[in-house]
Amino acid sequence: MSEILVLVDHADGAARKPALELLTLARCLGTPSAVLLGAGDAAASIAAQLGEYGAQKVYSANAGEFGDYLVVPKVDALEQIAQRACPAAILVTSSAEGKEIAARLALRLGSGLITDAVDVEAGENGPVATQSVFAATFTVRSSVTRGTPVITVKPNTTSPEPASAAGTLEEVTVAFSEAATGTTVVSRTARKTSNRPELTEAAIVVSGGRGVGSAESFSVIEALADSLDAAVGASRAAVDAGWYPHSNQVGQTGKTVSPQLYIANGISGAIQHRAGMQTSKTIVAVNKDPEAPIFDLVDFGVIGDLFETLPQLTTEITARKG
Ligand code: FAD
Repeated sequence: MSEILVLVDHADGAARKPALELLTLARCLGTPSAVLLGAGDAAASIAAQLGEYGAQKVYSANAGEFGDYLVVPKVDALEQIAQRACPAAILVTSSAEGKEIAARLALRLGSGLITDAVDVEAGENGPVATQSVFAATFTVRSSVTRGTPVITVKPNTTSPEPASAAGTLEEVTVAFSEAATGTTVVSRTARKTSNRPELTEAAIVVSGGRGVGSAESFSVIEALADSLDAAVGASRAAVDAGWYPHSNQVGQTGKTVSPQLYIANGISGAIQHRAGMQTSKTIVAVNKDPEAPIFDLVDFGVIGDLFETLPQLTTEITARKG
């Protein structure tokens, strides 16, 4: 079977969930090999983790350049590994960094690039990617016709499924290009974090809109989110009102999420909001207006006041977990 390269996103000595999702998808296309850059002493333990999710090989490169400069050192590494391995496809997570790496890599390899795929499957002439475009009003299936397909895949496209493989660690030495050190990281400031999952990677997102009414009332949204180990999202109306940070905005001018479950509360379902959540697997809405456009989109809808519905839901979920 042909080799499929997967660029591994990792943090704190472990592969992040989107990388395990990519390995799961890669198994439908061929034999997955992981590319692990700058993992340092954690390389062996991350390789073991990647092996549990189907990576036959783990190409590992360590160098200060991966941390000290922006994306080009990673592009250099991937390019050199791709030239050696001649893979049938290269999968990268659809983050801002992932998409920049993928675009630069595709250019260098003279290959076609597909970004923001929500599914990838094997086709007669290579991988076929599915994208949801124009504010999720069209679904497009496409495949690369030139070079090695480079495809970025959105988090939560699939659930990571373990499948034991060798996970053989192969050390790689990278020859960095002159461009690699062109942009230096001069400082890093840790972002304020909650204990909640990252919005774009969360399996469940609970969002609040103008119907929540105030910043304080977002505690109702947060309580439900915490009972489900979910991330909190917000509509632009809620963000513009100053009730929740812009980093949590879902939609055309916010983040795009594609969780297994999206619960929209007090959100009307404007096209610009839908653009950021329409590819969620299951959509639930709580809205007191039965005519709200969000109900055209949902799998389950509750016509009711969120301040009555959500506390009951939170209590019930907490009780069932206990
Ligand atoms: P509303 O449309 O006011 O809806 C509030 C809903 O809450 C209503 O349906 C109401 O029935 C319900 N409600 C009220 N009280 C309760 C209650 N107690 N219980 C239950 N339901 C209740 N929007 C985004 O979200 N994300 C974006 O990224 C985004 N980008 C945009 C970009 C552009 C260029 C433009 C022009 C607009 C953008 N918007 C975006 C704004 C978008 O058009 C809508 O204005 C916005 O999504 C509305 O937010 P909302 O649904 O929270 O508010």
